[in-house]
Amino acid sequence: MAWRYCLMIEPAASDDPRSDFSDTFAVVDATAPALSVGELSTQRGDGIFESIGVVDGHPQEVTAHVERLAHSAALCDLPAPHAEQWRQAVAHAAAQCGAGEHVIRLILSRGVEHGPAPTAWLTAAVAPDYATARERGIRVVTLDRGYDSAAPDRAPWLLLGAKTLSYAVNMAAIREAKRRDADDAVFVSSDGVVLEGPTSSVLLRFGDRFVTPAPGAGILHGTTQLSVFEHVRERGFETAYENVEASALRTADAVWLVSSVRLAAPVVAIDGAPVAVDLALTADLNRYLLSPRD
Ligand code: PLP
Repeated sequence: MAWRYCLMIEPAASDDPRSDFSDTFAVVDATAPALSVGELSTQRGDGIFESIGVVDGHPQEVTAHVERLAHSAALCDLPAPHAEQWRQAVAHAAAQCGAGEHVIRLILSRGVEHGPAPTAWLTAAVAPDYATARERGIRVVTLDRGYDSAAPDRAPWLLLGAKTLSYAVNMAAIREAKRRDADDAVFVSSDGVVLEGPTSSVLLRFGDRFVTPAPGAGILHGTTQLSVFEHVRERGFETAYENVEASALRTADAVWLVSSVRLAAPVVAIDGAPVAVDLALTADLNRYLLSPRD
């Protein structure tokens, strides 16, 4: 069985003044049962998570991930996570990851039904191998997410900008992409605006401008996209958050799906039609994304 590590965390209140949280962590056997059957994470997908890439033992962009965990917690009315406690838990797990690429997952659940407190845990495991996606690219299909672009404001209980554990819909979209002979999907709003992939952000390049859909439109603000924007600005590109019409996917000079563990996967075909690919820039992006980032 592949290596997996699991740390149960006793969640501290966000104003807990302690500086050392090691006695709130308990290493448990990752192959043994660890959750109560009353867990709302498993019964209802009622919780939030983060996936952090680890490269040669270095966890990438921990602050951005812990901040997004706090953002998701606020959207879901979960108690605010203690940032320093989670940072220490990540450092603890990263120290167990050897060379190569790993993924650390942070999970904060509403807890056991009628129970007093949320449940929190973290896992570390060897990352899936994304070499082919990074080097050869991926074919994507556009899929209607079924909401118009005003839905997130009109219906915040859809939790569209939170990274919740309810990813069954996102996984169904990837299965639909595979049925259509593609590797992944790009969600489009019912009024034709590009949103995000089921597990990724969408980046487009038009000449010397990098564009991504505005995160306010009910999509996650990707930590990888933020990091790429910083890098490409240093290389002289402009960056912008914009309303991206679905037709722009076909006219861009390059399109990528980016996320913390896959990194940058160049899109080679959209809805069955080949599109422009920038392999040199892709290689540069992945070199940068594999370098230590804080
Ligand atoms: N959008 C969705 C829906 C995601 O699930 C993810 C990552 O899993 C992303 C965007 C990209 O986020 P990040 O770059 O922080 O991994």
